[in-house]
Amino acid sequence: MRRGMRAGDADAFDFIIVGAGSAGCVLANRLTASGRHRVLLLEAGPGNRHPWLHIPLGYGKLFTDRRFNWCYATEPQPGCHDRNVIAPRGKVLGGSSSINGLIYIRGQAEDFDHWRQLGNAGWSFADVLPYFRKAEDNGRGADDFHGAGGPLAVSDLRDRHPLAQAFVAAATQCGHPRNDDFNGAAQEGAGFYQTTMRNGVRASTAAGYLKDARRRPNLKVVARALATGIVFDGRRAIGVDYVVGNQTRRARADAEVIVASGAFNSPQLLQLSGVGPAALLQSHGIAIVADMPGVGEGLSDHYAARLIFRCREPITLNDAVRGWGGKLRHGAHYMLTRRGFLAIPAISAGCFLRAHPASATPDSQCSLALHSADNIGGDLHPFPGVTGVCVLLRPESRGYLRIKSADPRDAPAIHPNYLATLRDCETIVAGVNAMRRIFRAPALAPHIAEELEPGAPCDNDAELLDFIRRRGSTVYHPVSTCRMGQDANAVVDARLRVRGLAGLRVVDASIMPTVVSGNTNAATIMIGEKAADMILADAKGAVAAAAA
Ligand SMILES: Cc1cc2nc3c(=O)[nH]c(=O)nc-3n(C[C@H](O)[C@H](O)[C@H](O)COP(=O)(O)OP(=O)(O)OC[C@H]3O[C@@H](n4cnc5c(N)ncnc54)[C@H](O)[C@@H]3O)c2cc1C
Repeated sequence: MRRGMRAGDADAFDFIIVGAGSAGCVLANRLTASGRHRVLLLEAGPGNRHPWLHIPLGYGKLFTDRRFNWCYATEPQPGCHDRNVIAPRGKVLGGSSSINGLIYIRGQAEDFDHWRQLGNAGWSFADVLPYFRKAEDNGRGADDFHGAGGPLAVSDLRDRHPLAQAFVAAATQCGHPRNDDFNGAAQEGAGFYQTTMRNGVRASTAAGYLKDARRRPNLKVVARALATGIVFDGRRAIGVDYVVGNQTRRARADAEVIVASGAFNSPQLLQLSGVGPAALLQSHGIAIVADMPGVGEGLSDHYAARLIFRCREPITLNDAVRGWGGKLRHGAHYMLTRRGFLAIPAISAGCFLRAHPASATPDSQCSLALHSADNIGGDLHPFPGVTGVCVLLRPESRGYLRIKSADPRDAPAIHPNYLATLRDCETIVAGVNAMRRIFRAPALAPHIAEELEPGAPCDNDAELLDFIRRRGSTVYHPVSTCRMGQDANAVVDARLRVRGLAGLRVVDASIMPTVVSGNTNAATIMIGEKAADMILADAKGAVAAAAA
């Protein structure tokens, strides 16, 4: 028995979930619904009462707020002029769903069919669609692709800003089809995003899944609790060590420990607990429970180019919140109506397009943000401005996540290895060229005074790539560090059980075999929904087997 755990010296539960994020809150709700299972939910961050966690515009405020954000940064990235790229992650009930950009995009059907082709039974689009629908409470109502009545509020933007309308019209002028539902029959084309909000208020998983479930007597939620290690009995996970303030505690899991700490912290916790590449663990003096070379390897993330435009009319967010007068006026408007700039997500309108000639489905997500700044999370420009964001949807480049020390409080080394392959570079340059054409199309061009970044001197592909490397960043979608699969480097099987160990699963964005071609919150919530069904079915099977 590792670290001397004795029966009776800990709180005892059936399931311990580590991390109350997008997936963790789903699990906490679904695993406690029957009343049969005792569940402990541990969250390193605090509760989610702060108003900026509920007002959509708070997204911009939370980038650098260490109260609710781990505020990580990558290692120097060779593909980005050796810059440390910011890597925010939610550290609060709701996890990253409490600080994210509120965009509801699932990815393409082909993404999930590809997961199935890789050998992951039960993960084709046909298999996962019921879980997307189960989660959803779409303001448009239910149809073949959408659900109504689920815990996750999804809604259309109540206001369509004139510049967002111009962006969509310009994209159609460039030949892209108009698309009224990016999560419907096809993703390709231009349109307005649906968002995870209801009546102008953020719909995090803490709000949708946890708020009501917290009243159940069989769910215990401990916030500000940092899990420091998984406790093993041989190769079975039997509990979790965690710290709250200066207090060290241990809890026992009679059925399973479920790691749902996100794509950075899940592999970190496994490595700290002795599950990971043997040489790495030994170099930090950690006793090996299982030599698993794949834990932390294969990190994939969405890199993006951001183009900045000065606008002609003072109708952007930059103008709305300039000075106290503007702040008060828009604040009051929001308080009274739950509309206006405070109810606008990170991006308003978008276009999924095929930029690389070899791509069969959209490889680029081009979007309009109604603000501009020199740096992400920095002060907005003192003039009317918007940002064009072009995301490389299916990166080939892969990196890793590795602990830097045996101390759970130390940030791990995060190396997404952005823009490391020729195809990635070709695709993002082609995507930016396509987005520039949209900004120059007749419907949008009259609103644009000037392209400030990269600007006029940057007119060939080599210069554009250099700009993208120099000024680009992530859209915060790290995945694949505890990849699902059957090969030697896969960490979990198709039921999300850690391979070769008992009583241990990983359930969050880290299990994605490849990143979905879109934003990652919806797919992570789907993973939580599907995992809950599998966990409950396995628990039932175990009881039946014991009784037989
Ligand atoms: C700034 C930002 C903007 C984004 N915008 C969008 C968007 O617009 N649309 C979209 O679809 N996706 C977006 N994403 C991505 C999306 O939100 C994430 O992919 C998704 O939330 C990941 O869910 P998760 O469950 O894997 O991890 P998380 O939601 O990050 O949850 C992990 C939780 O585990 C906790 N935790 C970690 N380690 C420990 C530990 N040792 N002990 C206890 N608790 C621990 C964390 O504090 C956190 O609460 C964005 C993300 C960020 C950061």
